[in-house]
Amino acid sequence: MPEKILNLENGISAQLLDECIDRNEIPDAGNADIWIINNDKAWNVRKFLVSIIRHPDPKVFLKPVFLQKDLKKTYKEHKNYNIKQLCDGYIKELDIQSKIPYIRFILNFIKNLNISVSPSEDDLLKKTLMYYYSRNKNIEFHESSESLSGYSYPRIEAYYDGTTEAYVNGRALLNGAYKNDLLHRNYVDTSHICNKCYSGFLNYREECPKCKQHNLQARVLIHHFRCAYVATETKFWQGERMVCPKCSMELKNLGVDYDKPGKVFYCLNDKCKNEFQKPLIGVHCIHCKTEQAPSELNLEKIYNYELTQKAISKIFN
Ligand SMILES: [Zn+2]
Ligand SMILES: [Zn+2]
Ligand SMILES: [Zn+2]
Repeated sequence: MPEKILNLENGISAQLLDECIDRNEIPDAGNADIWIINNDKAWNVRKFLVSIIRHPDPKVFLKPVFLQKDLKKTYKEHKNYNIKQLCDGYIKELDIQSKIPYIRFILNFIKNLNISVSPSEDDLLKKTLMYYYSRNKNIEFHESSESLSGYSYPRIEAYYDGTTEAYVNGRALLNGAYKNDLLHRNYVDTSHICNKCYSGFLNYREECPKCKQHNLQARVLIHHFRCAYVATETKFWQGERMVCPKCSMELKNLGVDYDKPGKVFYCLNDKCKNEFQKPLIGVHCIHCKTEQAPSELNLEKIYNYELTQKAISKIFN
């Protein structure tokens, strides 16, 4: 049974989708101009949107798909599903007034598509170009602590299964398009990611240069002006007073009879007890548990992408 079809403003028809989402069944694209998700099961909605994105028929993967604002709270509990980034965003109480030019542009684009230029199922690049052209949008990164590297392109990564595969293949698709002059790119940021799994969830900490362990204690150095003795603070404390171990004078005023020229690290590994000024920095990847030096990390530049004239010609030819 086809799900509910409504006639909205400006002669635009909408199909409310609910049960077909639970079954992950794509409805007939000819039934209505736009689809409105009417299902509160975030995981099912995500799966359904991914099926649309991966669908070979331009009438399906280009279909305007909206979410209802009153379900926003439910979806937001599952931020890592990127539901909003996988469709055309929210509408409130079926009010599409402000979206009419946007929807019309997409519908005209779909209507005028020459069937012979439809992309083959594996022509993900062409599908991507068609989609962003029809939305008159740039391909923008999405910043989120829930994604592997911290920066993702959710709609492009949705073509692929598996987090790492999605990251690697999605980046390769964008990079390839840039190299073939189909996309311009605009620099946004630089990020450091694990060289093994591409995670950006990294823990940086000081390490002992001798034993490589990271259980260190920072100790403040004291410099006694009168005798020029320098040692860690602990060596000066005698109960409540600070006394110089070299000349036995009491230290009273910071800046007058002593200062603190810096700190040293002390390795708390019993077998090492090394004292040193310049620790190494070690990086632990929380995702794959490997240890790396900062210089070994992958450096990635983050860009937003824009379709070139060549890309637009490719869409229509
Ligand atoms: Zn050590
Ligand atoms: Zn002294
Ligand atoms: Zn890793």
